[in-house]
Amino acid sequence: MEIIRDPAEMTAWSKKQHVVGDTIGFVPTMGFFHEGHLGLMRLAGQRSDRVVVSLFVNPTQFGPGEDLSSYPRDFERDQELADKVGADVLFVPETEAMYPKGAQTTVSVRGLTEHLCGADRPGHFAGVTTVVSKLFNIVCPDEAVFGQKDFQQLVVIRRMCTDLNFPVHIVAHPIVREDDGLAMSSRNAYLDASMRESALSLSKSIALAQKKVAAGERDVDTLAAAVRMLIDSYSGTTIDYISFFNQSTLEPVSHIDETTVLALAVKIGGKVRLIDNGYLMEPLQNQD
Ligand code: AMP
Repeated sequence: MEIIRDPAEMTAWSKKQHVVGDTIGFVPTMGFFHEGHLGLMRLAGQRSDRVVVSLFVNPTQFGPGEDLSSYPRDFERDQELADKVGADVLFVPETEAMYPKGAQTTVSVRGLTEHLCGADRPGHFAGVTTVVSKLFNIVCPDEAVFGQKDFQQLVVIRRMCTDLNFPVHIVAHPIVREDDGLAMSSRNAYLDASMRESALSLSKSIALAQKKVAAGERDVDTLAAAVRMLIDSYSGTTIDYISFFNQSTLEPVSHIDETTVLALAVKIGGKVRLIDNGYLMEPLQNQD
């Protein structure tokens, strides 16, 4: 596996692959790899001839007071893991190379980013869509794989590609979970034993809502109350949002159907903000 740090070198590498007719699958990440990231890389490898993984802790998607400086990092380990799953290139740009002095252009998606995490984290999605646009222009992938763990991000990136004619097919990868249901996340590294227990409140309450829907419940308020009660029963949990919304518009719904997703953001121990989501009924079609 090659390590490339220079954006121009990255683009030159990708052009070479396209000249010989190879397709490129791309997995953008912020590193500190877990099985979720590795699943995305494996899927990219199954679908494309070459796989590029980017590792860039993007400062512009962190708000003031968020965890940019403490975000977990382990470059050696990440390098080993990406190599093992068969990535061809690990692209690791410096911040200065991504944001040279004098930059004045950003990319932002309007309506979809006003909901869910967008409401809690102003500027976050503009940071994401700007960096993903730049990475797409640098890496020139044919496909890019994103995790359903960040459901809103996936929908926003798809919208951006459609609106701005990025010639990149976006592929969704299901949420990868620990054996007990906790959605894998680099931020799980912040959890001590008791917080780790409380973190289960997210997946457990999604499972509870799914069970109630399977038993016939369709009322959002009733389901929200049950979810809230379960999360509150764990110690040190603070709910940022509980949202039942349509998979495409991200607009809140009052009635559950196959297009309804439940998403949660919960702070554990007052500081570690975790997210999780799930369809409440078997989705009608794969979003891919
Ligand atoms: P991050 O490094 O957290 O920015 O994530 C990089 C990519 O991995 C994003 O597309 C995430 O949605 C995806 N991802 C992170 N955690 C998981 C998970 N548990 N399951 C599936 N995809 C994930």
